Amino acid sequence: MSTRTWAEPYKIKAVELIKMTTPEQRETAIREAGYNTFLLRSEDVYIDLLTDSGVGAMSDRQWAGLMAGDEAYAGSRNFYHLQSTVERYYSYKYTVPTHQGRGAEHILSKILISDGDFIPGNMYFTTTRLHQELAGGTFVDVIINEAHDPLSEHPFKGNVDIEKLDALVAEVGADRIPYICVATCVNMAGGQPLSLANLREVRAWCDRNDALLVHDMTRVAENAHFIQKREEGYRDKLIQDIVYEICSLTDVATMSAKKDAMVNIGGFLAMNDAALYEKACGLVVVYEGLHTYGGMAGRDMEALAIGITESVDDDHIHARVGQVEYLGEQLEKAGIPIVKPIGGHAVFLDARRILPHIPQEQFPAQALAAALYVESGIRSMERGVVSAGRDKVSGENILPRLELVRLTIPRRVYTQAHMDVTADSVIRVMENAELIRGLRFVYEPEVLRFFQATFEPVPRASNG
Ligand SMILES: *Cc1c(COP(=O)(O)O)cnc(C)c1O
Repeated sequence: MSTRTWAEPYKIKAVELIKMTTPEQRETAIREAGYNTFLLRSEDVYIDLLTDSGVGAMSDRQWAGLMAGDEAYAGSRNFYHLQSTVERYYSYKYTVPTHQGRGAEHILSKILISDGDFIPGNMYFTTTRLHQELAGGTFVDVIINEAHDPLSEHPFKGNVDIEKLDALVAEVGADRIPYICVATCVNMAGGQPLSLANLREVRAWCDRNDALLVHDMTRVAENAHFIQKREEGYRDKLIQDIVYEICSLTDVATMSAKKDAMVNIGGFLAMNDAALYEKACGLVVVYEGLHTYGGMAGRDMEALAIGITESVDDDHIHARVGQVEYLGEQLEKAGIPIVKPIGGHAVFLDARRILPHIPQEQFPAQALAAALYVESGIRSMERGVVSAGRDKVSGENILPRLELVRLTIPRRVYTQAHMDVTADSVIRVMENAELIRGLRFVYEPEVLRFFQATFEPVPRASNG
């Protein structure tokens, strides 16, 4: 409808009250949580920007969909509704419901990866890479170099570098590469899109090298928004048509429905190949549930089918990304170093530049997220060395170039005033940045350590 403003194309029908806390209460809470925002109780959080996963607000239509749940063990009508919705909007013929995105990654990795295989991708995602490794594969990052540079303003930082793909073939041989996993609006790069022109090149590369093109479609609608805004020839195309075109170029998709599709839980694996579908049906019964419900209740499949329809609406996606940009622009005006261009689902603070006195081995982004919580009760997430984990071979910390704090905006949940409070809080933390100390591990889990690790501040003396 309107292109002048990002104002929300909805109004509020029900509200959830949130608790206000004192700085003393927050100091205690973060200490008890081991300086890990994942371990805070949600009750102690004022504005929760930890993630956009499963925390969106469902519409009245989605809530009504819950009442239309058909909880039959087999052949629920909600499954068929979901399957036809996936085919209509995302082009994939077969849908295997899973409890969430990682359920789909698990099944797909088990089917397609053999010991010693290499799986290129446009930057890693935590659970995706782990499932590839557990299946015997090695992840290889083939995103363009600009994606690792928080200062680069490349419009499509999610693009794949075809030369890196060719170099991998030269090194290991095409027969060791069963597929490439391409994510739309790359989470770990800062919510950065890829272009359709690039995706077409990747498609051609896959055809040349006899590899499948797997689409991590968790944020495909947000990617479509950026294509409409930035790519030659797409200005007048509808979001839903761009989404369809993206999906049509790929063979298989894994979906975390907790993001774009605005449900609290759910996901699926989708594909066009009947033989692959048959294999997936064989595994889904082992790990998730029967192939017509996977890990989901009938009512959840219904809410998801409705959420997909709402997620590809132009007004919806413009408001969604518009709110993220609004927060990013407030921070930029105040001189806060953030990743540019502003991403689709989150604003990423550059912890290296905010806390130059903390070495990366002392987890500056983790320390910054903890400090922001103490300042105002805003919960954010580390996306840096803690998330990157340790090298499989050497056991050393992987030191990624991006050491970021993610302020992730849930869909349809917070208001413009909440964004203003968030910007003010980050500015106050930045003003007192030199008081923030680095952290060291108290407890370090073996896998996906960022979820459950605990830390303590490094004593001042050893901080230099
Ligand atoms: C969230 C996410 C996943 C995993 O999905 P879950 O539903 O959390 O299991 C995979 N890939 C990307 C890009 C994600 O953001």
